[in-house]
Amino acid sequence: MRIENDIKLGFKDVMIRPKRSTLKSRSQVSLERTFKFLHSSYVWNGIPIMAANMDTVGTFEMAKALAAHKMFTAIHKHYSIDEWNAFMTSIPQDYIPYFAVSTGTSEQDNEKLRTIFTIHPQLRFICIDVANGYSQHFVDFVKNARAQFPDKVIIAGNVVTGEMVEELILSGADIVKVGIGPGSVCTTRVKTGVGYPQLSAIIECADAAHGLGGQIISDGGCSIPGDLSKAFGAGADFVMLGGMLSGHQESGGELIERNGEKFKQFYGMSSKTAMEKYVGGVANYRASEGKTVEIPFKGDVSDTIQDILGGIRSTCTYVGAPRLKELTKRTTFIRVSEQENKVYS
Ligand code: 5GP
Repeated sequence: MRIENDIKLGFKDVMIRPKRSTLKSRSQVSLERTFKFLHSSYVWNGIPIMAANMDTVGTFEMAKALAAHKMFTAIHKHYSIDEWNAFMTSIPQDYIPYFAVSTGTSEQDNEKLRTIFTIHPQLRFICIDVANGYSQHFVDFVKNARAQFPDKVIIAGNVVTGEMVEELILSGADIVKVGIGPGSVCTTRVKTGVGYPQLSAIIECADAAHGLGGQIISDGGCSIPGDLSKAFGAGADFVMLGGMLSGHQESGGELIERNGEKFKQFYGMSSKTAMEKYVGGVANYRASEGKTVEIPFKGDVSDTIQDILGGIRSTCTYVGAPRLKELTKRTTFIRVSEQENKVYS
């Protein structure tokens, strides 16, 4: 046993210090970024905010809505090949850079991935997603995927420490997804005691990835637009959202009406609900590590997008960053013991 005494921070432990700025308006801020990915050499331009590959978030409908804003969706892995085929005929060609095909690491997952990319070779992104990115099996799957798909952009995760980010990038990942335990419907920290405060995970993993020419996605834990600004300020190249994009018209799942009020179901991909839906229940050797919740219906996702993008633009004006790329250079975090005033909430 060993104890690390460095303090590790989450979003709620910091605020961003304002700095002198010559920007006159939020409209002068550009949130687009251009990346050239390490292994695939693919050049991408867009707003680096992503919908999570959850079936109550990362749906085809969400992908269309976000792509219209040059934002990204990791499309969940439970669509059939026929559903993919129908989707691909329904979208303008310039939306394609904004979707990833998600996969797990089973033989069956790999087979489906190959089929989708054989039928639709124009797709560019693969998101290899497992709850625990520390297993050798996962690293081997990433190596194998890189060998099979040399020109595709490979996203791999989740991990929270620099050495594992390096291992994944050296194994063929272009982008590493960072986050264990911060998610809004995640109970990993409750069930296992394992996790890492998200802000520190971003700072440490971004440093490791950028040193090798890779990128990171901060995945999980954002509950308000200010959290996305903190994630970008800490060095995240992309930010992935589950809860903040759930509950919308485009989020999939049933619309529930009760006593005149509308709700949508949202659940973790390791919840009992998801396991019952896709693998016939929770196997007797494991516990569910996700919650199922009903959230008030939020309507069309475009209003939420405007709220998020407006918030980040405002952060940029407070610190004098004309482009999102410059936000991290202009960020000084201050440690705090208070956040917003909740008198009226
Ligand atoms: P949020 O934005 O809702 O805070 O976090 C979304 C992220 O939570 C997802 O992208 C994924 O990494 C994680 N997640 C989704 N479902 C589950 C689950 O059932 N268990 C755990 N531990 N994490 C989950």
